Amino acid sequence: MAGFRALPSVDQLLGALPALVEDHGRLAVTQAARARLDAARAAIRDGADGGVEAARLPHLLAADLAGLAATRLRPILNLTGTVLHTNLGRAILADQAIAAANAAMAAPLALEYDLATGGRGQRDDHLRGLLCELTGAEDATIVNNNAAAVLIALNSFGLGRDSIVSRGELIEIGGSFRIPDIMARAGTHLVEVGTTNRTHPRDYTDAISDRTGLILKVHTSNYRIEGFTAEVAAPDLAALSRQAGVLMMNDLGAGSLVDLSRWGLRREPTVAEAVTEGADLITFSGDKLLGGPQAGFILGRRDLIAQINRNPMKRALRLDKIRIAALEATLRLYRDPDRLDQRLPVLRMLARPLVDIAAQATRLAPQVAALLPDHRVAVTDCASQIGSGALPTDTIPSAGLRINGDGGDAPDRLAAHLRGLERPVIGHIHAGALILDLRCLGADADLLGALAR
Ligand SMILES: *Cc1c(COP(=O)(O)O)cnc(C)c1O
Repeated sequence: MAGFRALPSVDQLLGALPALVEDHGRLAVTQAARARLDAARAAIRDGADGGVEAARLPHLLAADLAGLAATRLRPILNLTGTVLHTNLGRAILADQAIAAANAAMAAPLALEYDLATGGRGQRDDHLRGLLCELTGAEDATIVNNNAAAVLIALNSFGLGRDSIVSRGELIEIGGSFRIPDIMARAGTHLVEVGTTNRTHPRDYTDAISDRTGLILKVHTSNYRIEGFTAEVAAPDLAALSRQAGVLMMNDLGAGSLVDLSRWGLRREPTVAEAVTEGADLITFSGDKLLGGPQAGFILGRRDLIAQINRNPMKRALRLDKIRIAALEATLRLYRDPDRLDQRLPVLRMLARPLVDIAAQATRLAPQVAALLPDHRVAVTDCASQIGSGALPTDTIPSAGLRINGDGGDAPDRLAAHLRGLERPVIGHIHAGALILDLRCLGADADLLGALAR
C-alpha cells in the first residue's frame, strides 16, 4: 500500500495540469493544490492508500477551481410569475439602458462637467430635465433607492421636529424598511394619527403644531385595507397641509410614469397625477414599475429640492455614473409611449398577451416532459403578479407548466435540481406541484437550453 511518497509535490502537480493554470492562474491553482495535498496527507494518515489519493487529485482540483470561478450572480430564468421580484433583482433593463451603462463604464463622460463652459456641472442634471418633462414636477433629485429618498427627505424637513403619519400607513416593505424605524434614523419624531382602518382630516389638523416638520402620506403598496375604511386622499391632505403651512410628502413606492390601463392592467395613479394632486414632495423607485436600475426619485418644489441637495446625506446617497446613464436612457423611452411595451422589458412582460403565453406553454409541455423523465408535465393556468409591492392584491392571468413527480417531496427535489442548473430555473411550488409561470420567459430555447444542460 502506497503512503505519502505517492503524492506529487505542488510543483509537480501544477506542471502536470497546465490547462488549469492557464484557466485559473498560477496563484489560485497553487492554493487549491496545497489544500488538496493537505487533505490527501490527512486521509493517508487515517489509513487511505497514497496511490488512490494521488489519482483523485487532478479531478478534485479541477472541481474545486471550477467552483471558485463560478459566479453566484449568473443569469437565471425567473419563472416565479412575479415580474418585479426583489430577490431576483427587480427590473430587467431595456437594451438602450444596457448600452448606455456599458458606454458609461468604458470611457470617461461629462458626469459633473459642463461641456459648454468647461466648468463644473451636476450629476443630477442629466435626469432632472427628463423627470420634470415626464411628470410636470418643478424640480427633482435622485438618490440610491426609494428608501434613501424617504430617509433624506424626512431628515431634511423633519429633523428634531414632528412627522405626522396615519396609523393605516405605518408600513413595512420587506427586509427592514419600516416607516417608524426610518423616521427614528432620520431624526424625526413620529406622530401617529387616526386608526388602522380610518383616518380623517381632523386627525391630521389636531396633530399639527409649531413642532410639525411635515405630513407624510405613504402608498400602502404591499397590502390593502378593505371594509369600513377611510383615508384622507392626497389632494385633500395637500390642501389641508397648505392651509396649515406645513409640508406634505407623498411616498408612492412603485410610481408609474404611464397609465397602465392602456395595456389592460389595472389603473394605478401615475406620478404626473400625484404631482397635480399638490404634494410638496413625491418619492418613488427607479426599479419597480419604471423599469430602470435601482434608484430613488424625489420630485418637488425647487427650493425644497435645493435644501435636500444641501443635506450632507445627499453625498452618501448619490448615484454612480453607470446607473445615471442607464436611468437617462430608460427615461428617454417614455418620450415615445407608443413603443414602450416593445422596448421596456418590464412593460413587455406585464402586457404580454395571455394567448401568447398559453401557446408557448402548449408548445413547451411535451419538450420539457422529454427533458424531465419520471415527471408529468401539463399546461396550467397561472396568476402572475407585478411584485415589489405594486398592485398587491391584483393578479394577471397567465399560463405555465405544472410538473409532478412521484413521492411527496418530488416538487421540492425538482425545484432544488432546477436551482442547481448552470442557468438556474426558478419556479414556485403550489398544491404539490412545481409551477413554471412562462410570462417572463423569452424564447422557448431559453428554457429548453437550461434544462438540457
Ligand atoms: C418599495 C417601496 C419603498 C422602498 O423603495 P426601494 O426603492 O425598494 O428602496 C418605499 N416606500 C414604498 C411605499 C414602497 O412601495
